[in-house]
Amino acid sequence: MAQIEVRNLIKTFGDVEILHNLSFGIADKELVALVGPSGCGKTTLLRMIAGLEEVTQGEIVLDDKVINHVREKDRDIAMVFQSYALYPHMTVYANMSFSLRMRKMPKAEQQRRIRWAAEMLELSDYLDRYPRQLSGGQRQRVAMGRALVREPAAFLLDEPLSNLDAQLRVQMRTELRALHQRLKTTMVYVTHDQVEAMTLADRIVVMHGGHVEQIGSPDVIYDHPANTFVAKFIGSPTMNMLPGHLRRGDGKVWVEFTGGVRLDLPSTQVGEDGTEILFGIRPENVHLGSEGDGLPMTVEVVEFTGREIELFGMRDGERICVLLRERQRLNPEDTVWLKPDVARAHLFNKATGRNLN
Ligand code: ATP
Repeated sequence: MAQIEVRNLIKTFGDVEILHNLSFGIADKELVALVGPSGCGKTTLLRMIAGLEEVTQGEIVLDDKVINHVREKDRDIAMVFQSYALYPHMTVYANMSFSLRMRKMPKAEQQRRIRWAAEMLELSDYLDRYPRQLSGGQRQRVAMGRALVREPAAFLLDEPLSNLDAQLRVQMRTELRALHQRLKTTMVYVTHDQVEAMTLADRIVVMHGGHVEQIGSPDVIYDHPANTFVAKFIGSPTMNMLPGHLRRGDGKVWVEFTGGVRLDLPSTQVGEDGTEILFGIRPENVHLGSEGDGLPMTVEVVEFTGREIELFGMRDGERICVLLRERQRLNPEDTVWLKPDVARAHLFNKATGRNLN
């Protein structure tokens, strides 16, 4: 069992505070992804959990025990690095047994663990090979195998797929997910790739500038982003943000866009009359109306992806993207009329970035 909790965690390098008072928990057997742009502090946080980086302030708790001062090798947590860190002069078997030999584990037990891990990772036929004789995906699996043989309580993975080409990444992502289901151990997975986080994780921790912006399951993060940062970071193409004002009167609520265009909202919409807002709508939730019906936009680029049409244009200095499932003939310079599905819209306070709901 491995429950991990960080409590009021702060990290400074010199005078610079990198992580600002983070608190959250990771449940036993959960796969949690830490996701955020480069430099937001994901790796530093992971290294602190692993014991590779000192805690400046706060606590790291593993199964109700504060482990701030427990040495890395005594933590029962295994880390898999982006670079794999395989020994080139050792066979796959020797690479995988390395940490067990260091621990002076009996040979028979070493063998049992390596057989088991190799089978889990479909490496049984490659145990006598050297890393240079393996493909990228196989090397990645050996790196995973080295962690697996330790039978740790939790795995920490730092961008483990980033050295693989796009196709292999997708394949390994599915394999990792399946591996997690078979192993049933706690995993913390760092990535800057929101698609990877969405497809792999039970829960996602969205980080930005050393803060946690939101924690939730992939569907909650996607359907109920807490603020404009999360809304724009998760989902591709990114959510459209249309500036406007929230209006209410006579029991009605609506958004007033520039040019006087009005869009009625459900009467349950909260927020004060006159609030400056960003109306957030995902590209798949904008439809096209007939001429004069909706928000006018001039088309700039039309891209056909095979499955859908991606339409790009500008409105109020903002780039807008619309995904169309039905084929239709559209050209640059055409004017289209945007009809957002208001039931799927998000209203953000422009000043604070917070979701009004
Ligand atoms: P990436 O996805 O690019 O790896 P990240 O989110 O993992 O980014 P970190 O590597 O944790 O970010 O770095 C967070 C911040 O801490 C960065 O501004 C980085 O420059 C700084 N930093 C990391 N390690 C050190 C260090 N040893 N000394 C000083 N500053 C550091």
